[in-house]
Amino acid sequence: MKAFILKDRGNAVITEQAPAPALPEPYGAILEPVAMAPCTSDVNTVYGTGSRKPDNLILGHECVARILETASGVRDFHPGDIVAVPAITPDWRELSIQEGNDRHAGRPFSGNALGRSIPGVFAQRFAIKDADTTLAHIPAGVGIRDALMCVDMAVTGFTAAESAEIRTGDTVVVLGIGAVGLMAVQAAALMGAAQIIAVGTRPVSVELAKEFGASEVLSYKDGNVAEQVLKRTGGTGADAVIICGGDDHAMEEAIDMVRYGIGRVVNVKHYPGDGVIGIPKFSGGRGMAGKTVKLELCRGGRARIERLLKMVEFGRIRPGRLVTHRLDGFDRITDGLEMMREKTPELIKVMVVPEWAGEGIE
Ligand SMILES: [Zn+2]
Repeated sequence: MKAFILKDRGNAVITEQAPAPALPEPYGAILEPVAMAPCTSDVNTVYGTGSRKPDNLILGHECVARILETASGVRDFHPGDIVAVPAITPDWRELSIQEGNDRHAGRPFSGNALGRSIPGVFAQRFAIKDADTTLAHIPAGVGIRDALMCVDMAVTGFTAAESAEIRTGDTVVVLGIGAVGLMAVQAAALMGAAQIIAVGTRPVSVELAKEFGASEVLSYKDGNVAEQVLKRTGGTGADAVIICGGDDHAMEEAIDMVRYGIGRVVNVKHYPGDGVIGIPKFSGGRGMAGKTVKLELCRGGRARIERLLKMVEFGRIRPGRLVTHRLDGFDRITDGLEMMREKTPELIKVMVVPEWAGEGIE
């Protein structure tokens, strides 16, 4: 079958020779993607320096898909259903999930498997091991773009905001307004933040940040961002800082600009390579500032994605607005990945619709 694979580091290609997946009994399903989105983390997988990947790994973890086949034990899904497939797919039978450890149950990053440690979704067919606990029904009236942007972008932004425990009246800073940062802005607004300061410069993102609830968008080009935030908060700093972008110094900046005593910093940004993510001695109160730091991976699973889709259904969020480009034909996934790598000025996310998707995929 056709698939988009990682041949060697830095070399992702389309092959016609990928082995088709077998149906995982007793709870699995075989699906075909009808809309796919390449992600910055696919760019990191292809070009980055992370852990060694399986040979000829099939890439991809963001898609809406049609179910082709279900195993004997599947109750709630049927062939023909079009479903949202979460990027993060915890194995809910892992014991440590009972201890609240869903994303790293059993081993680090066990929930982050699709297109990383197991074959991903950029293929004619892919398998999901446990359909009932993983796949998400898409409510009537929810569009494909919105559903597609729920599986990773919206759920990551909401994971960050929830982890930051945003309270009514908070001042929240969101560093980086790519797709995840934009969703974090919207999540913060819905959770009751009063002042939302987004940080970024790309015009297409600045516009959307304001639409999603940012009270102001600051630029790195106007000087030290921590100083800009302190100035706007009477020297107090933000109640919460959510790191969705920036360079290796983003954590230091976040510690500099978050409040003493009750400030929370949540990171969902990927830091490539080795080295240290630093905490400044001074603004860290020489280790006693009362500031909380959390390092988070996006949440996954069916219930989480169905809740986000319900937010779309009732008009609370519009993640489909993130899709700025559409490419038609499976082979154009190669172009989509390059576009995500280059981040041209008008681009936030790309949707790729394969030729077998059929009518009505808008
Ligand atoms: Zn992704």
